[in-house]
Amino acid sequence: MPIMISGIPVEVCKKDIKNMHLYVKPPNGKITVSAPLNMSDKTIERFVRTKAGWIKQQVEKLVTQPCQSEREYISGETLYVWGGQYFLLVKYGTGKNSLLLSGDRAILTVHEKNTAVQRGKFIREWYRNLLKKETEQLLPKWEERTGLVCNDWQTKYMTTRWGTCNIRKRKIWLNVQLAKKTPDCLEYVILHELLHFVEKYHNDAFVSLMDKYMPYWREIKRSLNSQALDYME
Ligand SMILES: [Zn+2]
Repeated sequence: MPIMISGIPVEVCKKDIKNMHLYVKPPNGKITVSAPLNMSDKTIERFVRTKAGWIKQQVEKLVTQPCQSEREYISGETLYVWGGQYFLLVKYGTGKNSLLLSGDRAILTVHEKNTAVQRGKFIREWYRNLLKKETEQLLPKWEERTGLVCNDWQTKYMTTRWGTCNIRKRKIWLNVQLAKKTPDCLEYVILHELLHFVEKYHNDAFVSLMDKYMPYWREIKRSLNSQALDYME
């Protein structure tokens, strides 16, 4: 289990070493702490907590320098769609760009001249459409269950949060990247944001509402946060 520091997972790696140290692990920038084999979890956690400032700084850096592990969108790369893993197969075409899932392949047809950035943009919009379609199904379901009405919602490409809302306007924004995660993650974020319409803070009242409507929400949150850094791709 990673240690969570302000929503940032820190991986623990026990080794035959004398001292603890914290580092950013390539290629995806996971924050990792290596610790001596016999060190207690409590001591490790205490050490990591004292480094919270440094950890936030590292994540910040990754957000502002996404080129560190930028994708090229070439054959062989992995693409996640609703939690499933697909291998990218790039083909060149002259018509409209397309992305088709077939078996464990994601067949991307693009113009030969398209750059990695253009491919990336196309895939991002493809994810956005998937997310929109799924949200159109799921949001009414959760509105009905909770009796809460959302006036407006939008998808947005975000690198630090999965969802956000404007309580006064009763509007929700959902991160495009939710289309990479299992659909229960999207349901969790929808419910979370809807509940903010009645409870602004993540207090006990909020938690008991989450428990009431989605008793297994903690597991979903954990799986979502353990993948939080892969927005870098
Ligand atoms: Zn919240």
